[in-house]
Amino acid sequence: MRRSRKPASACSGCEDAVTTRPFAAVLVANRGEIACRIVRTARARGMRTIAVYSEADRDALHVRLADEAHPIGPAPAAESYLVAERILAAARASGADCIHPGYGFLSERPDFAEACAAAGLVFVGPPALAIRAMGLKDAAKRLVEGAGVPVVPGYHGDRQEPDFLRERAGEIGYPVLIKAVAGGGGKGMRRVDAPADFAAALESARREAQGAFGDPRVLVEKYVLAPRHVEIQVFADRHGNAVSLFERDCSLQRRHQKVIEEAPAPGMPPEMRARMGRAATDAAKAVGYVGAGTVEFIADGRDGLRPDRFYFMEMNTRLQVEHPVTEAITGLDLVDLQFRVASGEPLPFGEGDLAIDGHAVEARLYAEDPANGFLPSTGRLWAFRPPSGDGVRVDTGVREGDAVTPFYDPMIAKVIAHGATRDEALDRLSAALGDTLVAGPRTNTAFLRALCDAPGFRAGAFDTGFIERTFGPAPKPDRDAGALAAAVLRLTGLDAGPSDASPWAAGDAFQLGDARTQIVPVTVDGVREAVRLSWDAEGRPAVDGLAAPAGVTLVAAPDGVFALAGGGQTHVALFDPFDVDLEHLDGGDVVKAPMHGKVVALFAGPGDRVAKGQRLAIVEAMKMEHQLLAPADGTVGAVLVEAGAQVAEGAKLITLVTEAADA
Ligand code: ADP
Repeated sequence: MRRSRKPASACSGCEDAVTTRPFAAVLVANRGEIACRIVRTARARGMRTIAVYSEADRDALHVRLADEAHPIGPAPAAESYLVAERILAAARASGADCIHPGYGFLSERPDFAEACAAAGLVFVGPPALAIRAMGLKDAAKRLVEGAGVPVVPGYHGDRQEPDFLRERAGEIGYPVLIKAVAGGGGKGMRRVDAPADFAAALESARREAQGAFGDPRVLVEKYVLAPRHVEIQVFADRHGNAVSLFERDCSLQRRHQKVIEEAPAPGMPPEMRARMGRAATDAAKAVGYVGAGTVEFIADGRDGLRPDRFYFMEMNTRLQVEHPVTEAITGLDLVDLQFRVASGEPLPFGEGDLAIDGHAVEARLYAEDPANGFLPSTGRLWAFRPPSGDGVRVDTGVREGDAVTPFYDPMIAKVIAHGATRDEALDRLSAALGDTLVAGPRTNTAFLRALCDAPGFRAGAFDTGFIERTFGPAPKPDRDAGALAAAVLRLTGLDAGPSDASPWAAGDAFQLGDARTQIVPVTVDGVREAVRLSWDAEGRPAVDGLAAPAGVTLVAAPDGVFALAGGGQTHVALFDPFDVDLEHLDGGDVVKAPMHGKVVALFAGPGDRVAKGQRLAIVEAMKMEHQLLAPADGTVGAVLVEAGAQVAEGAKLITLVTEAADA
């Protein structure tokens, strides 16, 4: 056994004991893909792995993979994954000697890092002091500015009076960006183009920041035009070494959220890479950083990337979702390095020892519906076949048969492709997305693939506004006529070819005059329709005149068939028109919850007359508010919930007697 020793150089801000003893057991205070990914590396290091899980995650993959697992409470994260005491108790009970927080949840809570140290456990992350120093955007900016790191011109001070801030905005010059100092995930952020709009934007940014972070304070800075999001992965040890592991370009964003990330950044001049790397390590050193961290910069990309046009935005004091692209181009295992550094080892390399190998791209595969405002799409994964292939890596926390629940981030997987060149990496990613098969929740697969193949992105001519400019607000729905045809033929037993044994070959109530045509009632993505089955002279069946094309994958589920084509999904079920929906008997309508969530407001009561499109209620789900509108003119019958109630997807909230029924 190696002996513990003091670090070679003093480490300000390290509150726990420094040893170079390798860890024997880690508790992973997270779930999903990142928990699985950490377990894999810990196991390769010979460590015992301990998972924690909420009631919703009893059978989750991360629980299966770990050597042991401890329950920590109900499904909502606030009652389980965010409860430090439960996690510490599980760590004590299991004999862990360190805790890896992953990303999100408790990873950037300085109090948690301190509580770990107080409990005699090593927190696999930076010192609490460093987390705290970088926690608020304004203070972090002042601090790194003092260390000579370029920051976006702006006001990062304490004063918050609207008039004062508007004057600063005038000095900075429009457009400006108002940002919550406690911000994250793009919340509390408003672009303002003219002085007249400043007051209203400030008010709404403050309101959103108060709601999301309990802190309404903002800063005001120059809005960088043609912004490129370029971040530097840094690593620091307890011996005073800090190195840059090069950059990642995360400019492909939707509503300030990363969609596709890559390394290196296209068009990055070597001099700029060197300068950014130095700025990032300077920022890390300024706060006594230890471990893996990411320094995010924004670059003015109007004339391509230029060494004098990048500015510090913030530092994320944890492992980043997109760390695999850095692993791909450096050949390093960042989680392995985190364990080494946390146990007191010096970094095993210096900056000069590293080189960039090829190019890597990551796509975040989400259970969400692009045609419906990218709202999360929950439900069981009736099929999930992740891709494989040369240079392809998939990080996931789910398997076929698991459910995507409304409680957590609905990411299904990260698909990462590495190649010798950027084009090869993108070709591989595009092909991998084409091979990805998900049935059940809707996904952004087709959208990600279209992004990979978008000419502007391929040419490296993009910035953070690229997605919105290129794809508009709502891509088209998944519905595909060929997929529908294949599904109907499967459901009616006709996909095996003409057969007299098929019940559909016999005449029935839906038969039209022509014996070779039948009307079949179905639901397509939940909407009732009638499709027309017909047969050609050779007896080959078609649906609405279309034979089922090749390349449609059919997945059976208890309530119908999922037909998958081109990354999109069409759900088809046979439906019996005599099975009348009682809800619609009186001609009335029912307003249902679009997803699991909380009713935050009700705007109508029984007997109220409402107009089509009028707002009836707001349901908050996945941290977003969804307005529920009256589907038609009418009178409110019953209100079946109270404000504040938790509701399940599809729960009936309000009944409406519509005008048509009155007449
Ligand atoms: P958050 O912590 O809420 O994610 P960030 O400060 O990291 O906020 O910014 C998120 C994104 O907003 C960036 O990736 C970039 O696209 C955009 N952004 C931030 N600051 C600016 C700026 N000054 N000018 C233009 N775009 C910006």
